[in-house]
Amino acid sequence: MTGKAEMTPIRRRRRPVWPAFLAVLALVWPAAALAQERGGIARITGPAEVRGDADALVLELPLTQPVPHRVHLRDAPMRAIVDFRRVDWTGLQPESLPRPAPLADLRVGRAGGGWSRMVLELSRPMAFDTVAMQTDPDTGSARLRLRLVPVSAEDFASRAEPDTGQRTDQDARPPAPLGQRPTVVVLDPGHGGVDPGAERDGLREADLMLGFARELAEDLRRRDGFEVVLTRNDDHFVSLEARIRVARQAEADVFLSLHADALPEGIASGATLYTLAEDASDAAAAALAERHDRADLLGGGVDLSGADDAVAHVLMDIARTETSPVTDRLAETLLQTIGDAGLTTHSRPRQEAAFSVLKAPDIPSILLEIGFMSSPRDLADLRDPDWRARMTRAIGDGLRDWVADEAQRAALRRH
Ligand SMILES: [Zn+2]
Repeated sequence: MTGKAEMTPIRRRRRPVWPAFLAVLALVWPAAALAQERGGIARITGPAEVRGDADALVLELPLTQPVPHRVHLRDAPMRAIVDFRRVDWTGLQPESLPRPAPLADLRVGRAGGGWSRMVLELSRPMAFDTVAMQTDPDTGSARLRLRLVPVSAEDFASRAEPDTGQRTDQDARPPAPLGQRPTVVVLDPGHGGVDPGAERDGLREADLMLGFARELAEDLRRRDGFEVVLTRNDDHFVSLEARIRVARQAEADVFLSLHADALPEGIASGATLYTLAEDASDAAAAALAERHDRADLLGGGVDLSGADDAVAHVLMDIARTETSPVTDRLAETLLQTIGDAGLTTHSRPRQEAAFSVLKAPDIPSILLEIGFMSSPRDLADLRDPDWRARMTRAIGDGLRDWVADEAQRAALRRH
């Protein structure tokens, strides 16, 4: 396989003329436009810098946000490869960048499996000395710095991966431990489209949760070390299966489904956290889970909750031995920071239920009722921007604390 064949070239297309109504929408709804634009993909914010001499080859790349990345070396021809998850290369013009020796060529493109690739073709054997993604705490923007230093031909050959001819997505390596890379948080605003969720006083749960998810995404993006992906960023129906697929494709570290349901009993109030279990912890939790699953069936999605789905259950049981303690710690940490912020929690804030949306057993998944629309007090809170800001901050703090705790545990396990 040649170096050029390993990625799909990006064809530069003429920028479409945006319909006027989109421009107006962007003016009246800047937060939405921003969230849509940023998504999980970083863009190039300025000129890349390339410097080379006998001692080193240095490349610096300014990005809108930090992105997960990995580096590897390939031989014949000698190449240093950087894969990103993901980068929109539109702002970079590789043909206009300098090619100081030992840089023979520089190409960018897509690498398959949702990865973006940069290839540095080398005129002499080199190895990565520095790979650093630095985030500006004020703007949230990032700068990738690569430094390659000369090595012997034998050294390069021993470090270079064999060219198997396989696609990149088949030789993906397991990600670095939590805390050593951006934590990928998938936010799942409940309901949407034909499924409005709970409705009270002309408000729909689907709309409230989309707004809240955008606010939470902004809070997380302002912090260091989070990449945020939304399962939906407008008012359309998303099946439970599709929500889980988004989490898988994003290689989520956390899946957080956001709700504010109404319970017919009218007694539920305060933030409540649900984690996956075969047996719901009480009848109300069971009814809630059943209603969400039925809503999905009505919308044409695939229902994963069938009790006769033996394969899914076996897989879940295997995966849960590893995932469940991590999910438990995440749930406890979130309850801690929500409580510390003085926000109301349910009298039994931690519950278990067989929600289909939580059935991505390889990803720590939590369904968070930030309140209940059936409670007048909760409904007033949900409409209050100050209350929502406190809740987004508390959830962000909880995720931050959980990542720090898991990173510490991983470090202890390695020693
Ligand atoms: Zn809901």
